[in-house]
Amino acid sequence: MTIRVRFAPSPTGYLHIGNIRTALFNYLFARHNQGTFILRIEDTDVERSRKEYADAILKDLKLLGMDWDEGPFYQSERLSIYQEHLEKLEKQGKTYLCYCSQDELKARRKEALALKQPAKYDGRCRTLSNEEKKRRIDQGIKPTVRFRVDETEPIIVHDLIRGEVRFDPQEIGDFVIMRPDPRGGDAFMPTFHMSVCIDDGLMGITHVIRGDDHLSNSPRHVLLFKAFGYQVPQFAHLSLIHGPGGEPLSKRFGAVTIPEFVDDRGYLPEAFCNYLALLGWSPKDNREIFSFKELIEAFDIANMTHHPAIFSEDKLIWVNMEHLKNLSPEDYLTRALEFLRSNHFYIKNEEMIKPVLLGIQQNIHRFDDLPKVLAFLNDVNFRARLQEQVMAGAGNEVFDILKEGRPVVLAAKSVLEKVGSQGEALLNELISEVQKITPEKGKKLYLPIRAAITAEAHGMELKKVFELLDKETLFSRFEYTTHLTTTK
Ligand code: GLU
Repeated sequence: MTIRVRFAPSPTGYLHIGNIRTALFNYLFARHNQGTFILRIEDTDVERSRKEYADAILKDLKLLGMDWDEGPFYQSERLSIYQEHLEKLEKQGKTYLCYCSQDELKARRKEALALKQPAKYDGRCRTLSNEEKKRRIDQGIKPTVRFRVDETEPIIVHDLIRGEVRFDPQEIGDFVIMRPDPRGGDAFMPTFHMSVCIDDGLMGITHVIRGDDHLSNSPRHVLLFKAFGYQVPQFAHLSLIHGPGGEPLSKRFGAVTIPEFVDDRGYLPEAFCNYLALLGWSPKDNREIFSFKELIEAFDIANMTHHPAIFSEDKLIWVNMEHLKNLSPEDYLTRALEFLRSNHFYIKNEEMIKPVLLGIQQNIHRFDDLPKVLAFLNDVNFRARLQEQVMAGAGNEVFDILKEGRPVVLAAKSVLEKVGSQGEALLNELISEVQKITPEKGKKLYLPIRAAITAEAHGMELKKVFELLDKETLFSRFEYTTHLTTTK
């Protein structure tokens, strides 16, 4: 059997961690089994779907390296297909028109919940008299089309992660498959249940891998597949992703978009995918770091778990660091420079910062560390940063260091003019001269010097800083710092 899977997002918002993980599992499953990965945009909710979101979905998949084999198919372009399928069901006597208004349905649902009864539709429009229908039409009610659930036996959903899940048909009730087009006119629009089953059937989908918020929809889908005469696919419902404290994934992470992770925070796409794959899948040997190719090779649906997956950005950072360390120097430099450029970081001389970038390859968490680490190279950044720190006043680490270490900074400024070397030698000479003037040593000596010329309390080794900044720059920085801190 050739495996055919699909990713079927609704373009009603940007993709977030939850749905991109669904895409990834479909993708890995298809590629591992030499199957077909189909992209289908489920845009029949005309009020909430937007082209901008649909376009962003395609871009996000490309950004993460998930290429699709067929599609994108847009459901909004397939309306006549759903209409034809409706006729098939009508011919079988499986549908009827329902004239209950939204308000009535809501009130009944509320009542049922209060009585702790299943909030299913009671089927009252199955036997609506013609007069009553007419009365409702005259009231301006547009009917929906419901699918009859006449099943008496439990409906079984075969789920590769959860095993056999049984549903009591009594609790399902006749469900809506077509509703009036909210834009007006007499046309019907398919509901999600209808379009998803028709397309899965027509596209020959063998496995439906999706979030477990859809598990309760699956018995309805099993009934529809059977009514249309389509093979019922196998299901795999992925457990939801929870936040670090076990709470449902909060807005903080639940709404972060893929470009925010990759383009702004600077995660490597393959590291991001690697981490997402671990949310719901446990590789046999507990290995955690995989290249994209290795993920495809290792992925096995049998090792998926139904326990809720916990999203932790700390873990994501760790995975990202491991990937960063494994990049070849050329690849790392290309990507780091590209990140800096696309984030409008001013680079005067690429050749000069390449060794700096390589020097921190093993330490950075993600690419958005780079502008921070490199900021001191540029005088404008340096001055802005120093002003920010000094304005923050007492309690700010750099402010306190500069205040306490003022004698060291003044001494450094005065001896800098007299010493003759450069780079690391200059630093050594400077230190020994300053020590002749002030009694400080160790941190009390190095920290004020670092703060005075980088506006930071931490960063790359001081000798590297001295190699990167020439003597005039160093001098003007000592001068600027002593000037800015005079009155503080
Ligand atoms: N359009 C549905 C969603 O975004 C997809 C459901 C499915 O995969 O069957 O939730």
